[in-house]
Amino acid sequence: MPAETKLFRCLKDNYGVLIHDPASGATAAVDAPEATPVEAALKATGWKLTDILVTHHHADHTGGIAELKKNYHCRVVAPKAEAGKIPLVDETVSEGDTVSVGKLTANVIETPGHTLGHITYWFHGDKLAFAGDTLFSIGCGRVIEGTMEMMWNSLKKLRDLPGDTRVYCGHEYTLANARFAIAVDPDNQAISGRLAAVQSMRERGDITLPTSIGEERATNPFMRAASVDEFARLRSQKDSFG
Ligand SMILES: [Zn+2]
Repeated sequence: MPAETKLFRCLKDNYGVLIHDPASGATAAVDAPEATPVEAALKATGWKLTDILVTHHHADHTGGIAELKKNYHCRVVAPKAEAGKIPLVDETVSEGDTVSVGKLTANVIETPGHTLGHITYWFHGDKLAFAGDTLFSIGCGRVIEGTMEMMWNSLKKLRDLPGDTRVYCGHEYTLANARFAIAVDPDNQAISGRLAAVQSMRERGDITLPTSIGEERATNPFMRAASVDEFARLRSQKDSFG
C-alpha cells in the first residue's frame, strides 16, 4: 500500500510533515518543530505517532520532540553526527542505513552543508524524499556549519534521485526563491512559469510543497550550477538578495 503524507505549518514558516503506512498503521513525523501542530495533524488524520525522523539538530526542527515523546512514546531517529545535540534519541543513522516506518523503508542520504550532520530520508519505494533544510523548492539552505563544497556535493546527490521523487522541505521559501531564480536565470521559461504559479498559490494562502526532483532540475539555480564555484557564487549572492 502506498504511503500517505500530511503536510502542515509550524512556527513562523516551518513545515511539519507526517508519513503514514496504511498497512501497519505506523506514522512518522519528519522533524518536530513544535508539538501542538503535530498533534493537531495526528488528530485530523486519526494516525498514531510511532516515530520521529530528525533531519538535523536546529531548534526549529527538534523543539517538539520532548513533548511528543512524552505523549506518544515514539522512537526518535537522528543523524549519528548530531545525536548529541538532539533530545531523547533512540537510534542513530548515517549514510547507507535504512529506517523502517512500519513496512515503509527510507534510505539515509548524508547531505551536510547547512549543518555538518544533516541527513535526507529517501523512501525510494514511495518516491518521496524529506530534505529538511538542504534542498528547498527552487532554492537551498544556507551553508551555516559546512563548506560550499559539502553543500554542493549534497545537492548533487539529491539531483541524482529519480525525477519523479516528490520532495518535502523544512520551510516555505518558494516565492522568494523563485524571485531570486528568475533574477539569475531570466530566460528560463520553466522558472517564469513556476514563479507565476507560486505567486498565485501564495496569494490564495496555499502551500507550495511538495516539489519534485525533476522540477528542481529544471528551475533550481543551485542545482543547475555547473560547478562548485558557480554554486558558491550563487549561494553568496542569495544571502544578500533583497
Ligand atoms: Zn536548519
